[in-house]
Amino acid sequence: MALFDLLNVSYSYPNGRVALESISLSVYEGEALGIIGPNGAGKSTLLLIMSLLISPTSGEIYFKGESFREIMRDESKIYDFRRRVQLVFQDPDVQLFSSTVRRDVEFGPMHLKSGKDLENSVLNALRLMGIEHLADRHPYELSGGEKRRAAIASVLSIDPEVILMDEPTADLDINGRDSLMRLIKMMKGNKTFVIASQDAEFILRTVDRVILLNKKVIFSGNPEEALQIIRGENLASLYGLLPQK
Ligand code: ADP
Repeated sequence: MALFDLLNVSYSYPNGRVALESISLSVYEGEALGIIGPNGAGKSTLLLIMSLLISPTSGEIYFKGESFREIMRDESKIYDFRRRVQLVFQDPDVQLFSSTVRRDVEFGPMHLKSGKDLENSVLNALRLMGIEHLADRHPYELSGGEKRRAAIASVLSIDPEVILMDEPTADLDINGRDSLMRLIKMMKGNKTFVIASQDAEFILRTVDRVILLNKKVIFSGNPEEALQIIRGENLASLYGLLPQK
C-alpha cells in the first residue's frame, strides 16, 4: 500500500495564483522520492499540503489509506500524523526559535522522551548532521549551512517515519551536500523521504524515483529516465542541469 496517495490535488493561493493543477501521485514506504522543478513550480506548496499545514483547494489526499479530511477532524490523529511525518522547511529560521541549537533539537522529542533517552536522541541527531560542536550556540549566530544542518537535526531527533525536505541543499557546501546525500541513502528503507529541490543534480544522485513538476506532474520515473527527459525535451536549463555536450 502506498504511504501517501494524492488524487487530483489542486491549490490556488487566496490571491488567485495557481500553484498546483490536478496533481495525482503516490509515495511508497521506504523510498526516496525527489521532486524537481523550477522556481514557482509548486514544490513548496506541495510539501506544505503533504504536511497537513495547508489544505488543497480541491482533490483528495490519503495517508496510509486514511483521508486527510478524516485526520483533520481528530486532534489525536493530527498529533499522530505530526509524530510520523515531519517537514524540513525551506527557510531554516522557521524551524529554529530557541536560545541554543541543543534546545531546538530537543524541542520535538521533549514531548515524547525524557532523561537519558532524550539526551541520546538529541546527541544522535547532532552527530548525524555533524554539528555536536554547535550545540550550545545561538541559532542566529550560525552560518546559512550550519542553520540548515541544525534545522534538519531538529527533525531527525523526532525520528519520524517520513521526512519531507524543501530545498535541503540550499546553503550547504560540497561536504554538506555529500553528507546529506549519504545520510538519505543510509536512512531510506527505514524512513521515507520526499525531497523537493531545483538542485536536479543532487536529486538525481540521491533518490530512487523522480517527479518532474511544473504545476502539473510532467513525468514520474527513475532518475536515469528523468535525466533523459530533461535533456531530450530541452528542459535542462529549466531543471538546473547543464545540457549534454
Ligand atoms: P516552488 O517551491 O516550486 O518554487 P511555490 O510552491 O513556492 O513553488 O510557489 C508556487 C506558485 O505559488 C508560484 O507562482 C508562487 O509565486 C505562488 N505562491 C507561493 N506562495 C504564495 C503565497 N503565499 N501567496 C500567493 N502566491 C504564492
